[in-house]
Amino acid sequence: MKFSALRVVKEALTGHKGWKPLWRNPQPQPDYDIVIVGGGGHGLATAYYLAKTFGKARIAVLEKGWIGSGNVGRNTTIVRSNYLLPGNQPFYEFSMKLWEGLEQELNFNAMVSQRGIINLFHTDAQRDAFRRRGNAMHLSGADAVLLNRDALRQKVPFLNYDNARFPIKGGLWQPRAGTARHDGVAWGYARGADMLGVDIIQNCEVTGFRIDAGRVRGVETTRGYIGAAKVGVAVAGSSSRVMAMAGQRLPIESHVLQAFVSEGLKPVISGVITFGAGHFYISQSDKGGLVFGGDVDGYNSYAQRGNLPVVEDVAQGGMALMPMIGRARLLRSWGGIVDMSMDGSPIIDRTAIDGLYLNGGWCYGGFKATPASGFAFAHLLATDRPHETATAYRLDRFATGHVIDERGTGAQPNLH
Ligand SMILES: Cc1cc2nc3c(=O)[nH]c(=O)nc-3n(C[C@H](O)[C@H](O)[C@H](O)COP(=O)(O)OP(=O)(O)OC[C@H]3O[C@@H](n4cnc5c(N)ncnc54)[C@H](O)[C@@H]3O)c2cc1C
Repeated sequence: MKFSALRVVKEALTGHKGWKPLWRNPQPQPDYDIVIVGGGGHGLATAYYLAKTFGKARIAVLEKGWIGSGNVGRNTTIVRSNYLLPGNQPFYEFSMKLWEGLEQELNFNAMVSQRGIINLFHTDAQRDAFRRRGNAMHLSGADAVLLNRDALRQKVPFLNYDNARFPIKGGLWQPRAGTARHDGVAWGYARGADMLGVDIIQNCEVTGFRIDAGRVRGVETTRGYIGAAKVGVAVAGSSSRVMAMAGQRLPIESHVLQAFVSEGLKPVISGVITFGAGHFYISQSDKGGLVFGGDVDGYNSYAQRGNLPVVEDVAQGGMALMPMIGRARLLRSWGGIVDMSMDGSPIIDRTAIDGLYLNGGWCYGGFKATPASGFAFAHLLATDRPHETATAYRLDRFATGHVIDERGTGAQPNLH
């Protein structure tokens, strides 16, 4: 079923009886050419591009819960491509370009809104670092504008410029960045993949791998054994646990990342603002809620909920940046398990087992990568070669020392 304005009018006039579920609910087949483990944004996008761009068929996505139950439905919806390092910047800019055409591509309203992002800086040295980042962004065709304090004050007059814990001296602005409705992205890719014949199988947990002579033959699941010539794992916060079932130990730690939303307020924040020095970032949803977050919880966990010291820390960051936020009432908070890699950058690579591929290590920033990650993982699964923008995301880089340490914090996952 194609969505269009005409369709909305027709359904309105005929009692809304023609709407169909966005995807089928198929029974698992005994075997597939390609099985994707994990029905988050990355797994669904991978299946979509495998079928659409690479012409593959007989594909299944196996999801242990329901579509949208993982981080794809828990994130703070920010999309951007303001990266510095050559291994990262072209990849995230490729993703940004895919975001820009995504809704037309999927014929689905994912509420992609290019409302801009501003990274605040507080010292001359930090301004120089942001200028360098902006130049690196320009080199890969991205947009970046360095705002001095006066220009910033015109855009966001409500920040606490002089008395904040870190006085604000300006910001790096990426106008094309913004937000997208996170679960809408999952639904759009699920619908698109389903229309191309992909089986999306929910409530189907992978509990083991069948590996024979160094080659994967299929997966054990709560709904029985499913054979597969190739298996792509895209399970985000569960990467270490799932890959351990194939005997693989990953350079990944799982931490909880929390997010918060206030009651609905009149429009005040037009884009996304990040306050790195205060470990706080914020935007405003279309419903008016202030959506904000901060650091990951400082210890390893697989619980999808966080602890109170981080809540206090994030609230302090918000108060330091814009004291009037203290008057807003908090509506909800939640947590998701993020797969923190040792250098803060992702992995899209083959593994030591033939036919088994890994997509993971997205840390707190994989939502923005969803389109490019799906495309690059599909490219790898289809051709056995990395996509040109993802050649640096090798699994062996932690052994060879070719790490992509965007934040420059070393092998300290909770600081990336
Ligand atoms: C609070 C929070 C805020 C965030 N904010 C942002 C942001 O603003 N911008 C940004 O770019 N990123 C953000 N992120 C990160 C982003 O959400 C993730 O990096 C990204 O969603 C991970 O990819 P995914 O969508 O495929 O993950 P998921 O949606 O988690 O998908 C993985 C799926 O695998 C399934 N699974 C796990 N084990 C198995 C198994 N054994 N068998 C079958 N299925 C299995 C899970 O149920 C899950 O549905 C945030 C994350 C959190 C938690």
